[in-house]
This record gives sequence, C-alpha cells and structure tokens, in this order.
Amino acid sequence: MSFDSLGLRADLLRAVASQRYGRPTPIQAQAIPEILAGHDLLAGAQTGTGKTAAFVLPLLQRLADQGHPQRHPRALILTPTRELAAQVGERVHAYGIHLTLRSAIVFGGVGMQPQIDRLQRGVDILIATPGRLLDHAGRRTVDLSRVEILVLDEADRMLDMGFIHDIKRILKLIPERRQNLLFSATYSDDIRRLADGLLRHPKIVDVARRNTAAEAVVQSAHPVDKQRKRDLLAHLIHREGWEQVLVFTRTKHGANKLAEHLVKDGITAAAIHGNKSQSARTRALDEFKNGSVRALVATDIAARGLDIVNLPQVVNFELPNVAEDYVHRIGRTGRAGAGGAALSLVSHDEQALLKGIQRLLRREIPLTPVAGFEPSAAGSVESAADDDRSGARPSGVPPRRHVGRGDQPRPGPGLAGRSAPRSRRAAPPARGR
Ligand code: AMP
Repeated sequence: MSFDSLGLRADLLRAVASQRYGRPTPIQAQAIPEILAGHDLLAGAQTGTGKTAAFVLPLLQRLADQGHPQRHPRALILTPTRELAAQVGERVHAYGIHLTLRSAIVFGGVGMQPQIDRLQRGVDILIATPGRLLDHAGRRTVDLSRVEILVLDEADRMLDMGFIHDIKRILKLIPERRQNLLFSATYSDDIRRLADGLLRHPKIVDVARRNTAAEAVVQSAHPVDKQRKRDLLAHLIHREGWEQVLVFTRTKHGANKLAEHLVKDGITAAAIHGNKSQSARTRALDEFKNGSVRALVATDIAARGLDIVNLPQVVNFELPNVAEDYVHRIGRTGRAGAGGAALSLVSHDEQALLKGIQRLLRREIPLTPVAGFEPSAAGSVESAADDDRSGARPSGVPPRRHVGRGDQPRPGPGLAGRSAPRSRRAAPPARGR
C-alpha cells in the first residue's frame, strides 16, 4: 500500500512526499478513501497512529476539489486542547502547502483580536478549541453557517474535559447537512452516544485496539519511597543519559516542584500545565523539542496530543488515578512504530493503581528496586498509615511491599532486554516538527 493508491491529488502527494513518510499508516490507508468518498467516519485511533494526516489530507482534497477559497469556514476541526489545535493547524499548513486554502487556529489563553483579524481575512479551514470558538460565535466574529465538514479530534478527551455542552452548542451553529468525522482513542458509552447523535451511516475504522501502543513500549517500574522519587528520577536521568524525557505528575503544583528540583540537580527541565500561559507552554515545548530542555514535566491534560516524534522515554513520576490515562501517557513514546520505554516510579500507596493498570493491559509490569533507592521500612510504615485510615488493612499487619507475582519480578513477554542500560538518545532529525 502506498500513498499513491489512496486517491489523493498530486499536490497533496507532493506535500506528503516532502514529509518523508514511507507508507500510509493503517488508519490513513483505511480512513482516507472513505473520507474522500464523502462518508461519515467513526475512527478509533490514538495519537501516534498518524490520525491527523488521516483526516487532514482528504479534508484538504475535498475542499480543494470544490474550487475557489471561500470567506467562511467550510471545514471545522475541534480539538480538546490548545496544543492539539496548534499541532493540527501546523499539519493543515504543511499538507496544504501547495494548495490555496486558508486556515486559522483559534484557542483560548491568547488575545482575541489577532484571531478576529485572521477570521475576517477569510478562512476555509478553522481549527478550534470549543470554548474560544463559542466566544467568537457569540461576538459574531465567525460565521459557521457554511461548514461542510466537521471533525471532532480526540473526542473522548473532549468529553473527559467536560466539553459536551459546548459541542452541542456548536452543532446548533453549523448546517445539518455535512460530513462528520469523529476520532477517539477509546469507546465509552458517552462516545457511542455522541457518535449515534452525530454520525450518519458512518464507516467505522478502528486501529485503536486500546492497548496496541502499550504493547510496543518497554514498560518497567521501580518501587521507591514517595519522598525519594525526585532524587531517584534525577539519578536515573544522569545514569541513563536520557536527553529527552517526558515526566508525568498528577498535579500542576507537583509538576512545578519537580521541574525546580531537577534544575537544582543540574538537569534542564520545564513544567507544562494548564496554569501556564500559552506562550510559556509553547516555549517549554519548543525547548524540549529542540533539545535545550531535557526533561519536560507535564500533567495529563497538558501532555495530551503533544506531537513529539520518537520520544524515547516517558516516566510516570506518579501513576494516574485512571488506568486508561496510563495507556495515553505511554502512548507518547514508541510513536508511529518507533520503539520507546515507559518507566513508573511506584510508591507504596500507588500499588493498587499499578494493579489496576496491569489488569487493563493484561500484562505484568516488572517492579525492580534501584540500588540505593530501595523502599525503606519507614516509608512503608508511613504509607501504611494511609491504608489504615482508609480501612484497607488491619493495623499491625505488615504492608505488602510489591505487587505482581511475589517480590521477585519476572519479565513479561518481550521484556527480556529491560535491565540493559538504555542510553538511547532521541532521534534528532525527527525533532521539532
Ligand atoms: P498523529 O497520530 O497524527 O499525532 O501522528 C503521529 C506522528 O506520526 C506525527 O509526527 C506525524 O507526522 C507522523 N506520521 C503521520 N503519518 C505518517 C506516516 N505515514 N509515516 C510516518 N510517520 C507518519
């Protein structure tokens, strides 16, 4: 299967060729012909599968085939986060480089006026986060009455983030007759309900298979006392020579503290989360991509949709409360077929979370202590107090130290090389797109 056989125009094929993609990814091979044929689409695909090109390329073609650019948007792409909007916008620009279509990106956290100016000059494709789009609609600085193609990108995350009412409001502003494309990494009942209300005789393409990303990633975990996690992380970054590591924390405050701590340890680090201004987030991401920041510390929502190619190492500084978020997090590495590694630092009180993740993945994640950072009895007692408060364990019963099948971690399938030192570096040519 090659891009040439998908029915794309020569000017789009030229743009694809300059991206140096070899072949279409499965989602592209399946979705592009269906979208070109005008069908609605329900696509199960995570970030990293090449899903953006899967809808942007045929969308550009359908608009370009209709002839001249118009004043009002004919395609509307909704995304949950500013970062994803910016990244999709950048892809629209790259793939549409040989076309005359115009696009605009609108999201919150930055001034309205430049966006209004851009909209007034006329756009064919509008990429937007829901809240800011409604702001524009309310001020009548955007006219959505000509929208012919609607894309909901990362629809599951939009629902998680509470955008359902905004989406419903937006749907009332666009024509009923249109092509709808819904992309989601997971299929919850909520997504099914949204799809049922939105899509007409959709073609269904599913490359998500929830855990496929997880399977391509080497996963490991270290048990460690909570208060020693920061030192262990710094130790590992130095020891393993990680030059580009994405670190997840549960809270914004925790992200800031950790980044500060790493900097004190001589590791260039930046935090990225919802309390940071858009320009600070963009700057941190750029510095991470160009290699001047080694460790990017992020909360789940901030990291969602970040397009960082061939990210070699992800660290869960804290495990997420929801097991599915673990899959999203580690999906940041090993993207589009490249290998990657995900490491979790697991304190005693997180063992139940690790179990939940192992259940979801149906695989064991080996939990191996790091010499000098073994969890102390004191640490266990301290966190055992938490357990006692929640009534999880009768007092006086010693806490279990490790999850999994006993204290001796056993490598899962395909994990044979897990203890080899990983001095792999980020693939520099792939950076910064
Ligand atoms: P996405 O899932 O859309 O976030 O894309 C993930 C990454 O894969 C992006 O950096 C794309 O540029 C890249 N990509 C998209 N399509 C292909 C392809 N056919 N071959 C190789 N890389 C691709």
